[in-house]
Amino acid sequence: MKYFIDTEFIDQPYTLDMISIGLVAEDGREYYAESNEVDWSRASQWTLTHVKPQLDGVGMEREKIGYAIRRFCEHDPHPEFWGYFPAHDWVVFCWLFGGMGELPFQFPQHCLDLRQWAQSLGDPELPHQAGARHHALADAWWTREVWAFLAGLDPKTAAALAPPKP
Ligand SMILES: [Mg+2]
Repeated sequence: MKYFIDTEFIDQPYTLDMISIGLVAEDGREYYAESNEVDWSRASQWTLTHVKPQLDGVGMEREKIGYAIRRFCEHDPHPEFWGYFPAHDWVVFCWLFGGMGELPFQFPQHCLDLRQWAQSLGDPELPHQAGARHHALADAWWTREVWAFLAGLDPKTAAALAPPKP
């Protein structure tokens, strides 16, 4: 099954401090969590203005978020993760489990990139995100919408990248 992911984070050279994470599964299930371990003293003014006010403010430990995501993807032998230029999101995601080498065994070690797919198709105008932006769950829903849009333009690639059927 596909999982569309987005995170908000504070990035400073050599650290990525996850603020929040949203996952939307292909079947419409969603998962959202906020970290209670964020070092806000390192946040930029932009993050304080655009990201922080949208948080619920009920955070949990990153390790617990990792366990919750394991449960969210449980019984799925072939999860496939998608993001919109997800390089940073994927690092943050892997760290929830302790690192890339400690991902649950059935997880791939990479995340597929919608931005790259869009570029390969000549950069079509993507669906506009309705409502909040820079909220990890809202952004994950938008990512799902972008996947459907690109799959409509390029069904061949969509099929080629699909995880094997269980
Ligand atoms: Mg985001």
